[in-house]
Amino acid sequence: MDNTSSSSEKSDECIFCLIVEGRRDAAVVYEDDAMMVFMDKYPISNGHTLVIPKRHHTTILDMESKDVCMLFALAHRVAKAVVDALNAQGFSIAQNNGKVAHQVVPHVHVHIVPRYIDEDRGRWPSRRTATMEELRSVAERIREHLLKDRADTMDVELITD
Ligand SMILES: [Zn+2]
Repeated sequence: MDNTSSSSEKSDECIFCLIVEGRRDAAVVYEDDAMMVFMDKYPISNGHTLVIPKRHHTTILDMESKDVCMLFALAHRVAKAVVDALNAQGFSIAQNNGKVAHQVVPHVHVHIVPRYIDEDRGRWPSRRTATMEELRSVAERIREHLLKDRADTMDVELITD
């Protein structure tokens, strides 16, 4: 990593910045001015979704706390939509900061991983590569549930005020 660049500066190397700019394909569930939600290309389980701030930050410590609140408020909304859309029996939320914490893409992201009883092997199932067609179809189902849930949208707006 280039030590001279700020941790909040966008980078041409950053795959999530490229997705935000529409220069790299992703199965997008939702986006607004500040946030974006899309499917993980290498899902741990069916419906593995990522929530990111559009602005490049390496870790959540580089973000304002109110922006972290917004990020997690949206993650909460998305988790509900993922569970409802896919009839998951539970879900895990992971947010890794730094290489030692297994953060692969150095742009803040929250993983929402739905969990299913029939897939549970007591730990993380292994990742696989999904097709874009498959991801887009799951993204569409999650989006329908997300947009249905207007009450939770209000929560996010209250926090941003
Ligand atoms: Zn980035």
